[in-house]
Amino acid sequence: MASLHDDIERVLWTEEEISARISEIGTAVAADLEGSSAGVVFVGVATGAFLFLADLVRRVGRLPVEVDFVRVESYGSGTESNGAPRITCDVKVDVRGKHVLLVEDIVDSGNTLSCLISHLEAKGASSVSVCTFLDKPARRKVHFKLVGDGKFYRGFECPNYFVVGYGMDFAELYRNLPYVGILKPELYQ
Ligand code: 5GP
Ligand code: MG
Ligand code: MG
Repeated sequence: MASLHDDIERVLWTEEEISARISEIGTAVAADLEGSSAGVVFVGVATGAFLFLADLVRRVGRLPVEVDFVRVESYGSGTESNGAPRITCDVKVDVRGKHVLLVEDIVDSGNTLSCLISHLEAKGASSVSVCTFLDKPARRKVHFKLVGDGKFYRGFECPNYFVVGYGMDFAELYRNLPYVGILKPELYQ
């Protein structure tokens, strides 16, 4: 059987580096949420954030948090966002009056996040923070505004390549790679 490793041009972050960085973010998130009087909901953006969310929630394991997912579609199987995200599966948890932490795999144009932030604000969240595993600031088209005293956390700044692994896919594959790597461009060009 073919190995996924052969499709990776270069590893950007190893499993060990990812784990160490998530411990740091978890500590920062926990410190900010500590003593919060309102409820806290971690909302993962499916599917890409599933591993990051799973690792992050365990770093704040002593805090009472609800966990849910939303599903947004804007990508298809290509490598470029089409700029018009649609929420295809909404949260089940009631976010009214609560602090929401949106957990994303990667922020690229910012379209997905800005759509989700407005959506959660409209549902009555008292604050919306964002915790993204990767951030590609060079590609930003939309500047999203956090809600209330929401904060922005990010794992790593990502160079302008199409990356896969640690939850992130190309055509639904590569999510199970334990590291993040640059996909060989000949595979999608
Ligand atoms: P945005 O709406 O910010 O343009 O794109 C957000 C979504 O596009 C991300 O949550 C992610 O699912 C996908 N995306 C953006 N850049 C990459 C990338 O380099 N690799 C992968 N696998 N997905 C990406
Ligand atoms: Mg995503
Ligand atoms: Mg994808």
